[in-house]
Amino acid sequence: MIKFCNECIMPNSRPRIVFNEKGICNACLHSKKKEKINWNERKLEFLELVNKIKFDTKKNNRLYDCVVPWSGGKDSTSIAIKLKFEFGLNPLLVTFSPLIVNECGNNNRNELSKMGFDSVFLMPNQKVSKQLSKRFFLERGNPKVAWDAGVNAGPVQIALNYNIPTVFYAEHGESEYGGLVLNKESEKKRNLREVIEHQVGDFPENWVTESISLKDLSPYIYPSEEELQKIDLTAYYFSYFFRWSMLDNFEYVKSKMPNFQTNPKGRTEGTFTDFDSLDDKIDNLYYYMQYVKFGFGRATRDSCRMIQNNQMTREKAIELARKYDNEFPSKDFNEVLSFLDLNEDEFEEIVNKHRNDEIWKTGLSNKWELINSI
Ligand SMILES: [Zn+2]
Repeated sequence: MIKFCNECIMPNSRPRIVFNEKGICNACLHSKKKEKINWNERKLEFLELVNKIKFDTKKNNRLYDCVVPWSGGKDSTSIAIKLKFEFGLNPLLVTFSPLIVNECGNNNRNELSKMGFDSVFLMPNQKVSKQLSKRFFLERGNPKVAWDAGVNAGPVQIALNYNIPTVFYAEHGESEYGGLVLNKESEKKRNLREVIEHQVGDFPENWVTESISLKDLSPYIYPSEEELQKIDLTAYYFSYFFRWSMLDNFEYVKSKMPNFQTNPKGRTEGTFTDFDSLDDKIDNLYYYMQYVKFGFGRATRDSCRMIQNNQMTREKAIELARKYDNEFPSKDFNEVLSFLDLNEDEFEEIVNKHRNDEIWKTGLSNKWELINSI
């Protein structure tokens, strides 16, 4: 039986989420913990790290102080701006190409570049990228599994190549959004095992097929521990040092970069926000599949984050989830179908294969209905 958190509205069908005896999820508990953290102390810790990085860059004649994995969205852009203009670091921004690039993402990357940033855009072999996306859409109902591996591996590969030993990732998703934190340290420093196990699910080395060789998979393969140790690479989460809130990140970017583009439609399909996850045409399908597999859509995801940051009431969240969670991703549907090389019938069959029968039933006139909804 699906239960919903008593504070936010996340169901316990979300992978790895844990509810306490009062029916409160661990993302909500984490948000209470965030209120008690001495952020001033964390900032001092960060300043100390910044000084260490600057000293090390100078001593070793490095070209850049750090790498920032950068989609061009509000989160990674806010980090880039802060690092450069508030803390005086010289970051190299690294983008692992979205599966289906769109205009909004291109625009926002160009705008930040004009503010004075160097960046690297990694475009993996598009033939392989399509094949992997289709494969994981079929097998796991998630077209972004390989992309997830690439977005993790790419920036670290670049860091190694440029001899830059510090990487700043955005937020630690497992603690921010409800998941399984392997140890206390992983909220601050990226734990590779946690990322591979939770985000990607297995090692890209295992994806070799008749048509995809190990070499083809190299953009997706995380460098070995041995390679990382050669330059003593450490990847930090920005959310450890500064209180994380997607709405605050957006407001910050808007204030520094007036041409930051939000969803031109005024709202993104499946949700009420217009400022989050805007740079890949396949994203609307990705979030729709979460709804299919786990029974919560993008409006639930967004509103839970806002409840946890005291930016929305639970009542409002319920209203928005009921209104938008089930919205079908029709906007770029034809392009997505052609990218996945599927026709509409094949697509529907795959979607329904991934419906969990603890979550869905067929109701009147054979329409799919949630068994238990908020
Ligand atoms: Zn909760």
